[in-house]
Amino acid sequence: MTSASRRYTVVAAILLAITVLCIYFYFNPESGRLFPRCPFLILTGFQCPGCGSQRAIHSLLHGDIASAWHFNAVMLLFIPIVAILLIAEIKREKWARFYASVNSRYVIWGIAAILLLWGVLRNIC
Ligand SMILES: [Zn+2]
Repeated sequence: MTSASRRYTVVAAILLAITVLCIYFYFNPESGRLFPRCPFLILTGFQCPGCGSQRAIHSLLHGDIASAWHFNAVMLLFIPIVAILLIAEIKREKWARFYASVNSRYVIWGIAAILLLWGVLRNIC
C-alpha cells in the first residue's frame, strides 16, 4: 500500500468512526431496531465478551461512565488499548519498533486471553 492510499484509508476510517459514533450518540441501542442483536446471545443465551458494547458506547457518549461500566466493563478498559493500537497503525512506518511491539504475539494473545476470561466470568458471576 502506498503512502497516499494509506493516508486515504486512515481518513476514511476516521470518517466512518465519526459517523458510527454520531449514530450511537443520537440513537439509543436499547430502544431502537436499528442496532443488531448479538447472534451469540440469541443462539446460546450467554453473553459474549462484546455484549453490551453498543449500550456502553451510547452511555459513554452521554457522559454516563457508570452505565457504560455496567453494560461492558472490558470495553471501557480496552479504549486506551485500542487507542494505542490505532496510533501504532497510523505511525507504523515512523515507529516500526513500537508497531512491532504492540502487535507482538504476546500482546495479541494477552488481549485474546483477557476477552476469553471476561466472556466466561461475566456469565458465571
Ligand atoms: Zn454478544
